[in-house]
Amino acid sequence: MPHRFVLGAVLLLGVAVSGPDVRAVQTATQGAAQTAPPAWSADLGDIRRVASLIPGRRPVRINFVKFAESRRTKNFSIKGAEATPSVQARTAFQVMYPDASLMVDAGMDLAVHKFFGRGVEEPFFPDAAKQVEQAVGRARLIVVTHEHGDHVAGVVHSPAAPQLAQKTILTRTQLESLKVSPQMPEIRLAEDLARRFIVVDYEQYYPLAPGMALVKAAGHTPGSQMVYVALESGREYLLIGDATWHMDGVRLMKGKDAPWITEDQGAVNAQLTWLNALSRTAPQLVVVASHDEEQHAELVGKGLLTRRLE
Ligand SMILES: [Zn+2]
Repeated sequence: MPHRFVLGAVLLLGVAVSGPDVRAVQTATQGAAQTAPPAWSADLGDIRRVASLIPGRRPVRINFVKFAESRRTKNFSIKGAEATPSVQARTAFQVMYPDASLMVDAGMDLAVHKFFGRGVEEPFFPDAAKQVEQAVGRARLIVVTHEHGDHVAGVVHSPAAPQLAQKTILTRTQLESLKVSPQMPEIRLAEDLARRFIVVDYEQYYPLAPGMALVKAAGHTPGSQMVYVALESGREYLLIGDATWHMDGVRLMKGKDAPWITEDQGAVNAQLTWLNALSRTAPQLVVVASHDEEQHAELVGKGLLTRRLE
């Protein structure tokens, strides 16, 4: 008898869970999922329009240099990839205007580089690091793709930081991260230095300079942004910072698998999906990842990037 009672209860329950009320709830949930805004989005047409707002001659070329390396197997950069050896190039980019230069990322010194090795000694190229330091000193303006040490230490942890800060634009979020939760102690911003930066707060896009726009892209870090550049020749670039560490992340639409970083994975995946679609809808746009050694070699080979700062 007790068995039959239990069976009856299960049958009743079965009717209940497949009843009309439950189906209504399921439909409503699916509807909400369909109308929920994506974790991140951008529109290339809007980016181009914003980049055209500031009058003046557009840049003529983009240079970069590798000043250090991290040796990390591919599986950290791309979730599910094999643990094959891979070089992460640590780089800084220089956008050349006819009469001035602008730095996108500022490099780092040896002390900050050692943090990234996490106990393992990794290659650091003093001559290239010096090139970055000199280019940062000469630059009219400096911006950073995000607030990690390998991108900001060249300003924040430099003996010349008080002077460099006066020509460096940080977003409000980057500034707050550096003050409150810096990636390492060397790049923590003290209040008196923090006050010297040019701080901007923008919703989605920001007109930075002739032919250039910032694109808000929180994900890898809260203060991450992409930098769009349209040259005088019409050639377009999108410097995506660390949205992915290797362009396979865009090709496969797969994020990182690195336990030492904390990302907004929904936003990063939305960025990778958008970048992947761009490779079909805007194939002439050159998307550049900060750390992809193989991609940099390919772009230098095609004459799309120059491996030397001026
Ligand atoms: Zn980085």
